[in-house]
Amino acid sequence: MSEQKVPITVAYGDGIGPEIMEATLRIIEAAGARIEKEVIEIGEKIYLEGHSSGIKPEAWESLRRTKVFLKAPITTPQGGGFKSLNVTVRKVLGLYANVRPCVSYYPYVKTKHPVMDVVIIRENEEDLYAGIEHRQTDEVYQCLKLITRPGCERIIRYAFEYARAYGRKKVTCFTKDNIMKMTDGLFHKVFDQIGAEYPEIEKEHWIVDIGAAKLADSPEVFDVVVVPNLYGDILSDVAAQITGSVGLAGSANIGDGVAMFEAIHGSAPRRAGQNLANPSGLLLGAVQMLVHIGQADVAERVQNAWLRTLEEGIHTYDIYEEGTSRKKVGTREFADAVIERLGQVPQVLKPVKFSNASFNIRVSPTVPAKKELIGVDIFLHYKDRNPDKLGETLKNFRAGQMELTMITNRGTKVWPGGFPETFCTDHWRCRFKSEDGKSSTYREVLELMTRITEAGFEIIKTENLYNFNGEAGFSAGQGQ
Ligand code: NAD
Repeated sequence: MSEQKVPITVAYGDGIGPEIMEATLRIIEAAGARIEKEVIEIGEKIYLEGHSSGIKPEAWESLRRTKVFLKAPITTPQGGGFKSLNVTVRKVLGLYANVRPCVSYYPYVKTKHPVMDVVIIRENEEDLYAGIEHRQTDEVYQCLKLITRPGCERIIRYAFEYARAYGRKKVTCFTKDNIMKMTDGLFHKVFDQIGAEYPEIEKEHWIVDIGAAKLADSPEVFDVVVVPNLYGDILSDVAAQITGSVGLAGSANIGDGVAMFEAIHGSAPRRAGQNLANPSGLLLGAVQMLVHIGQADVAERVQNAWLRTLEEGIHTYDIYEEGTSRKKVGTREFADAVIERLGQVPQVLKPVKFSNASFNIRVSPTVPAKKELIGVDIFLHYKDRNPDKLGETLKNFRAGQMELTMITNRGTKVWPGGFPETFCTDHWRCRFKSEDGKSSTYREVLELMTRITEAGFEIIKTENLYNFNGEAGFSAGQGQ
């Protein structure tokens, strides 16, 4: 074990941030954390100075050098023009895995789920969070959902490696691949492929709707859960909340180089400066940090002393309950109580055991497929609501092998043979391809677009239709 101090970047944040950070650092340093702190300023003041992501250019230099960030919550100022600091840090520094242990501490913290020990591993960079949104017509707005093979492989491999390193038995994947067969379908497929490399770990897949219901109802049946970004964003809060308090959960954001550790809650401005806030979420984030920097021994001392403090009924206001709790304390006194118990282990709750085993996540190289252009989806802003009229007109436009095969409105087929009951907006997807899948050229696509434009239609976007190794790389329209 290295005695050398590890440089870490620390941000005290806003609201209750400074108090809980001070308490957290005091506890981990008393437990023997071998760290060298570099403090950066982030948050409200920096936003209001005109830095749109709440962080100054110099702070990035510290983060890139230390590669470890312990971050207190910040306040995002009200009003437009401010970008999420968290999303910026995650994306700029490639923090692809969000790891959130959600544990209930029954009977010391009130919960409907006394047996719960779930780790949510959320993909952090892809999915609907690319921020690529457009207004396309009077009525229609779009947000692009991007899922990549390397992105899926990295997070799924991370989940299995995590399960192996922490002695977990099962990894569950949630997707909605019965609807999003290509994007969520890829996540599921990669889960099956990578999972096969971990025969000792049980694997299961749930459709996210019923899976989420099951997680909220019977969290005890889950162990590690790996999810795409949006479902993970929602479910990790649900999971933390049902343990009894969001104030107790910490989270890690891990990348290949840099990692960030934090509490999951915000800056609770109404509680700021009153020595009231519970520092536990940030403390458990710091525990994850200590494991990450190879100080599992210190992480164990901290978390076991913290568990013992909870068990003894020494509680901050947010988890204080007459009958269960013994003493209501403030932030500072809570930290003192944990420090007094360093070296002790819980008597009723399960003590934690961490190992310094680190894992490297490798991603298979991309194998280029044989890609063949076979058509194009042309999206029109067309105000007339008559799909038959549109179909009859567009039928006359051809280029190469491509001809009109289908028109959909919001994904539902309305031509040929649409139903009058189908509600139509002003946004029409018109599919041109050869009926027997013969290839086309992009020049032909451009010719087609030119003819359609010259006929007075407004093209708002196109999507090329490709076969990859002979397999369609696009979805069919929904409908009868
Ligand atoms: P919040 O998490 O700050 O507070 C929600 C509720 O939980 C409040 O009643 C609060 O008093 C309580 N609470 C939160 N943490 C607590 C703790 N440690 N101890 C005791 N009680 C605690 O959420 P909010 O009120 O929606 O947001 C406040 C600010 O925090 C906003 O500006 C928001 O943008 C920001 N925020 C920041 C982060 C972050 O930095 N990671 C995350 C979420 C929200």
